[in-house]
Amino acid sequence: MSSIHTIYEELCTFVRQTAMIESIQELLGWDERTMMPPAAGEYRAEQMTYLAGWVHQRRTDPRLGGWLNELTGSSLDSDAHSPSAATIRELRRDYEKSCKLPQSLVEQLTRACVLGQQIWTQARKDNDFRSFQPHLQQIFRLKLQQAEAIGYQDQPYDALLDDFEPHARTADVADVLTGLKDQLTPLVATLVDSPRQPDASLLQRRYPIADQQAFGRQVAESIGFDFQRGRLDVTAHPFCAGLGPHDCRITTRYHEHEFPMAFFGILHEAGHGLYDQGLPPEHYGLPPGSYLSLGIHESQSRLWENAVGRSRSFWQHYFPHAQQRFPEALSGVVLDDFHFAVNQVRPSLIRVEADEATYNLHIIIRFELELALLTGDLPVGDLPGAWREKYRETLGIEPPDDADGVLQDIHWSAGLIGYFPTYTLGNLYAAQFYHQADTDLGGIEDMLARGEFAPLLEWLRRHIHAKGRCYSAAELVVDVTGRSLASQPLLDQLRGKYLPLYQG
Ligand code: ZN
Repeated sequence: MSSIHTIYEELCTFVRQTAMIESIQELLGWDERTMMPPAAGEYRAEQMTYLAGWVHQRRTDPRLGGWLNELTGSSLDSDAHSPSAATIRELRRDYEKSCKLPQSLVEQLTRACVLGQQIWTQARKDNDFRSFQPHLQQIFRLKLQQAEAIGYQDQPYDALLDDFEPHARTADVADVLTGLKDQLTPLVATLVDSPRQPDASLLQRRYPIADQQAFGRQVAESIGFDFQRGRLDVTAHPFCAGLGPHDCRITTRYHEHEFPMAFFGILHEAGHGLYDQGLPPEHYGLPPGSYLSLGIHESQSRLWENAVGRSRSFWQHYFPHAQQRFPEALSGVVLDDFHFAVNQVRPSLIRVEADEATYNLHIIIRFELELALLTGDLPVGDLPGAWREKYRETLGIEPPDDADGVLQDIHWSAGLIGYFPTYTLGNLYAAQFYHQADTDLGGIEDMLARGEFAPLLEWLRRHIHAKGRCYSAAELVVDVTGRSLASQPLLDQLRGKYLPLYQG
């Protein structure tokens, strides 16, 4: 009989090899979205499908079950937050979940989502929800079957949420989001109704793309993104992809008359990249070397993009650099006007273009709707009307058509149900972490004003990045900040910034 340590090594080797295939998938995906010539699409899809099948086979390989049975309860499993116990616990969770899904359901879901995305793309172009409706119905029906197959504590949504935010419960998320909505709605109304408004047109002056590229790269580098272990490229829909323990790819898009798009996009993706580069490389491919949840991942991007990148202190340091880089657009502009402009709050129809304050309302609308769709309380046929009503009620505006309304996001067509709340969870985690870092470091603002980012990054590395998946997100928040996730830190942060700006 082999020793516990030998079994553990066998398990880790097997799982690391699976991660190697997954990193090849990531590389193919990165290439597809940045470099690949259009005609290569069909063969690329074959390559990706082949690898996906191989990965699924390995994730449900019965040997995994055998190793995990031997290891559960062993000495390697005794200290809950140790790398070995986290590896055993999280791999067991992943394995059991994968095995509960019947192969036929996996195949039906894959087909429905591939087809769903194709139909959605066309439906959005044609502004034709009705052509998408039966496919969306089918996707929600299959996702409900998935939830039933996996099992859940309180409600089916729990099982779907778990794919993106492991261990999270719908009721807890709903509590925090409702608390946020109740206080955010009147705050947004106050800002929108204020007679003091920024002149955001100065951000639409001419910002030459080559200078945007150089400036963005300079800032990404100075906050700590390591270009020896990463790259910044151009794409239509920006993302961050980890291709290996020392290879993190971030992307952005540029518009000559839209300064914030690329700049804050780079800060956002670099924030994701810093997390990726901060995961322990020696555990690459195993839970202690993996990101914790989508919400925690998003917290890192939002923290750098918003708490840091839209603060006055940050621009105290960088505005003179920006003026030098973009003299045509910014000579004669004063720091306070620029800072106000990058913090404009305005209800809008499109989630991905929303500002920091209204963004969360877009998410809460989607969370409430997908929950009602999954339980069947809202029939899919009534979705466009419900969407318009929620926008009217929450943001005071209504989309003129479904293309800029219910059809704007790819998520549901791709079967990503339970994904949306992770964006707002990210904002909430970010505010709570930032507040704690500020306390621990004795004031971050002065450091930002001096262009010193290393202490904040060090803090994030130690408290969040280095821990990988050794804690659940809920445990991590308590461990780092001493309290559970709450909406107050984010509301305090937003009020603290926006009220002085808008009320003078
Ligand atoms: Zn993000």
